[in-house]
Amino acid sequence: MSDQPLQHDPRPGEPLDELQLAEIKGAILAKLRLAIGKDAGMATKRDWYMAAALALRDRIVHRWLTTEKQSYDAGRKRVYYLSLEFLIGRLFTDALNNMGLLPMFETALGDLGVGLSELRRLEPDAALGNGGLGRLAACFMESMATLSIPAFGYGIRYDFGLFRQIISHGLQQEYPDEWLSFGNPWEFQRPEVVHHVHFGGHVEHADERGRDRAVWHPAETVEAIAYDTPIVGWRGQHVNALRLWSARAPDPLDLDVFNSGDYISASAEQARAEAICKFLYPNDESAAGRELRLRQEFFFVSASLQDLVERHLAADGQLRSLPQKVAVQLNDTHPSLAVTELMRILVDLHNFRWEEAWKITVATFSYTNHTLLPEALETWPVELFERLLPRHLEIIYRINVHHLALAEARCPGDIDFRASVSLIDERGGRKVRMGQLAFVGSHRINGVSAMHSELMKETVFHDLNHLYPSRITNKTNGITFRRWLMLANPRLTALLRETCGEAVLDDFSLLEKLEDLASDNAFQQRFRDVKHHNKLALARLIAERLGTKVDPSALFDVQIKRIHEYKRQLLNIVETVALYQAMKDEPDRNWASRVKIFAGKAAASYHYAKLIIKLINDVANTVNNDPDLRGRLKVIFLPDYNVSLAEVIIPAADLSEQISTAGMEASGTGNMKLALNGAVTIGTLDGANIEIRDHVGAENIAIFGMEADDVMIRRKQGLDATDIIKRSPRLSRAVAAIENGEFSPEEPNRFARIAEAIRFHDPYMVAADFDSYYEAQRSVDARWQVMPAWTRASILNVARMAWFSSDRTIREYAEDIWHVPVRRSPSATQGKGFQRGAGG
Ligand SMILES: *Cc1c(COP(=O)(O)O)cnc(C)c1O
Repeated sequence: MSDQPLQHDPRPGEPLDELQLAEIKGAILAKLRLAIGKDAGMATKRDWYMAAALALRDRIVHRWLTTEKQSYDAGRKRVYYLSLEFLIGRLFTDALNNMGLLPMFETALGDLGVGLSELRRLEPDAALGNGGLGRLAACFMESMATLSIPAFGYGIRYDFGLFRQIISHGLQQEYPDEWLSFGNPWEFQRPEVVHHVHFGGHVEHADERGRDRAVWHPAETVEAIAYDTPIVGWRGQHVNALRLWSARAPDPLDLDVFNSGDYISASAEQARAEAICKFLYPNDESAAGRELRLRQEFFFVSASLQDLVERHLAADGQLRSLPQKVAVQLNDTHPSLAVTELMRILVDLHNFRWEEAWKITVATFSYTNHTLLPEALETWPVELFERLLPRHLEIIYRINVHHLALAEARCPGDIDFRASVSLIDERGGRKVRMGQLAFVGSHRINGVSAMHSELMKETVFHDLNHLYPSRITNKTNGITFRRWLMLANPRLTALLRETCGEAVLDDFSLLEKLEDLASDNAFQQRFRDVKHHNKLALARLIAERLGTKVDPSALFDVQIKRIHEYKRQLLNIVETVALYQAMKDEPDRNWASRVKIFAGKAAASYHYAKLIIKLINDVANTVNNDPDLRGRLKVIFLPDYNVSLAEVIIPAADLSEQISTAGMEASGTGNMKLALNGAVTIGTLDGANIEIRDHVGAENIAIFGMEADDVMIRRKQGLDATDIIKRSPRLSRAVAAIENGEFSPEEPNRFARIAEAIRFHDPYMVAADFDSYYEAQRSVDARWQVMPAWTRASILNVARMAWFSSDRTIREYAEDIWHVPVRRSPSATQGKGFQRGAGG
């Protein structure tokens, strides 16, 4: 990260309150002595960071306790967001910014002789998520606090987050992410908040006055301990908790075994329990399928439900009113077991009749679907379920009986229909379908972009939608502008405040004031200056990390996201090869200079994706060292993509690559972050790209390629790509170069597998979209060479992105799904500023 100053003064130019400044300096020094145990003379930079973070945390905690009490006293309905992933990133400047204390702390620390921008880099990135799904959960937490919705996030406190990626000789290597090794100043351990989570054993049934009564005798118990991280909303008016569970054994040491001298076995139970929260599964968009994963899912679901039921009972004294006071959102199918766990709590522990318990359950839950990819649809073998969660399997069977009776009533005699909606997949080994379970147990099921929600109705949930019409709804994803604009891009933020007015920070629709300035020469120049500054910072980072020099006036072409076949980094690198060849053919043509920037991790077991990383790096090696190009094309692979790296790359991007095979990217949120920061999108009509086009205007985005229905038709035809390649000399030549080892002379066969996949299988249709993509890229070149037109498109992207704020998304969830009131505008005062959700 560069040492650029952060410019977030609440009112530019206004002097700081000297009293408050002195108080904050005193607070930091006190923390340094009393919490860290050092004096200023011997403190390391990390000590200073810790002291500053703790001083800030104190200020947040006061607001936290106040808002907790207010919402408790008012008996307000709470939202619980259950997610196995929260991709948070750093919290220090985020919390400072939202508390309005950034300039204050910057000055205070400066007076104490330390630089804030230096300290912020010492905070490890909290990477408790893989990618978009986990980052969405983090943006939502921030927006819920901003909109003063009383909410809890529930998840797992993984000892190790997403692996660190190191690129060595072009190959990805994975290293453990030890994010907690220096302690975590944001969290509060709550040793008194402990829930017992059970596994295994057997179930006994007794007849109690004509009613079946199930008693689960589990074989194993694990304790879940709460750790709370306060999440502060914009302007610091509301604070919510992110409650993460850590696992431990109830009896850490078996003393009998210990005394007999077998020290290892004595702590075996402890090791088995702690394995649950040891690490985050690094699979993005594919089901993990391992027993430990199912244990993780049940562990956090069970602890969270016990926790919220206990809280509700303490306030309301009964569970009948649960849906009036509680809304539980399931982020993907990972927490689907919540449906069965709530049924167990209601029926087995609180004596509810099945039908009434079911009504309460369905009214309480809602479920967000994130993907249509078949490999990501979670299923679990019935035998595993039976062994680990015998009572929950019984509950699933009973839900299924009622559900299939409904299916039979709807489509009498239609066996295929029943098989398709069943919670159990009977084909080849019986499996529990987590998507079906979440759907049946929820009153609302949402997709994450308009197109994705429509495709859900046509594909995975076609039959369930027929059975339960009106449950499926759309909630297009959003991003929090506090992080992705204000923090990531302080210079653009300063320019926007000046041109759109201070109120833009509370009401992003005011960005539309940029419209009138989009063609204004002087404004364009200032806008370009900001971009140029950000590109210099990125160029510096690239030089530091990779030793490669890039030209900051070249077009920065960015594809940053998980490495996945459907996201088609391969299409991008094949086009890069074709461009390279074209430049070599005509070295004296007036080529636009480009820097192709890639970043992203591949799941450790996803060998093909790792081979694509190697290909990108090998192409980079050849291209970057070819003197014929005179530096006009560079290929950069930045290792260890995470939130903090995204915060540097995104403000520096000119072109945003959103090139997934149409129909496969549910929404994307990287596309939104980049457009908001003035990058022009080159993309397919997929996910939220479609809505981005609708907002920014077709003339300010470069759309290419097949549409989702073309893809489906072509897939049915099962055409192989040989013909397509034959008809495209450019593509033939690029594929041949990859195949023949031009980029891997030391191992000519290295990429034979990739070339073969493009020629003969190509399920993601790289070949079919290639020519259209290449043409779109050349028209991007042409536009880049007319700078005023390019700048205008870039400004209009910023001006028209307000709708993609996660505040808008959360408002829609609050009104249509959760039925909770939201603050009208973040700056509106509490009490008056609430508007009621549609449902009461
Ligand atoms: C936003 C974000 C993502 C999601 O990117 P997509 O392009 O939507 O796949 C993944 N990882 C990080 C670190 C992000 O910030």
